[in-house]
Amino acid sequence: MQNIKAESIYIHIPFCKTKCPYCDFASWAKKEHLIDQYFESLISEIRTKCEAYFISPTGSYSKKNIQTIFIGGGTPSLVEPKYYKKLFAELNQFFTFDKACEITMELNPGTARDDFLEGYTNLGINRISIGAQSFNENILSTLGRKHSVDETIEAIFKIKKAGIINFNLDFIYAVPGITKEIWKETILRALEFEPKHISSYSLSIEPNTPFELIYKNPKLLPTDDFSFDLYFELCSILKENNFTHYEVSNFAKPGYESKHNINYWLAKDFFAFGTGAHRCLNNLRTSNHKDLETYISYPNIENIIDFHTDLKFEKIMLNSRLNTGFELDLIKEISSRSKKEISTLLNDLSNDGYLELLNNKIHLTDKGLFVNNEILLKLT
Ligand code: SF4
Repeated sequence: MQNIKAESIYIHIPFCKTKCPYCDFASWAKKEHLIDQYFESLISEIRTKCEAYFISPTGSYSKKNIQTIFIGGGTPSLVEPKYYKKLFAELNQFFTFDKACEITMELNPGTARDDFLEGYTNLGINRISIGAQSFNENILSTLGRKHSVDETIEAIFKIKKAGIINFNLDFIYAVPGITKEIWKETILRALEFEPKHISSYSLSIEPNTPFELIYKNPKLLPTDDFSFDLYFELCSILKENNFTHYEVSNFAKPGYESKHNINYWLAKDFFAFGTGAHRCLNNLRTSNHKDLETYISYPNIENIIDFHTDLKFEKIMLNSRLNTGFELDLIKEISSRSKKEISTLLNDLSNDGYLELLNNKIHLTDKGLFVNNEILLKLT
């Protein structure tokens, strides 16, 4: 493959202590006995694919410079540093890393260990994303999370002790039983620990998860209006506390926006390795086997997801999530509506407080970001 422009790598680690009932990620509990084999397959995948990506006609390799790595899961913090040492040794064969390379690892409360954290930082991991989900025990229990609020706090202290100040706290709002007071308490509690970054997603009920059965009746879930109230509360409190709302669900102190995720939302190419991993290289998106054992046996097999034709819409959809806005010209290019219809719609949406038009770019407001997909569908 020639002239790959990607500067980000995603690595998937699929092991978890327990499986949360709302989760449809490629993650498994009680499969830790496969960690050894998994890393062998992961390393084999990196070697085989990178040899194919980077080999020159003369048979030599020129290393690709990388700006960001994201080790996600699953629960990457369940895995001993010695495995990541082997992984980084392999990556070093094909990549060089920017001095300012952002290297993120996801961590779940209850798995934070001082010795592991020391090992991770020695390998260059400089950003941790903590799956806190809530600072309320009842909400954690509703979500089927097996860790306590105290374990989240302990994890934060251990991360700070390991010298990592750039950490994210991840939350879920719109959980059954949540009230405005509970949500506000969670946000204010989070701020006490001075995170540089906060992400918060609405609970979504995914097919083939236990929550799909439990919440068959939508009346058991918070309404859209109430969910928006919670979202708006989050946006307001974080703005008052000098966080930039730079993406639909992501807020950061200035300079601490996630470079890795921004590359993704800018629809840039990226490498990805591991079970179920999706990549986009030279406008071609492919994915690995989502099943753990199948991936371990066939780590190099990948499926083509789509071709160039869908990519323009995908690019706008991803760009529309960012506070930097998206190009009006691109909308005009792919929309089935006339220019006049688009202009009328934009006026209406602007008058209703969903967006602002600046320098030929559409910027969604908080109200607009909450329903960004619906707005795009209207415009196209
Ligand atoms: S810890 Fe995260 S990845 Fe693992 S099961 Fe729960 S939600 Fe899914």
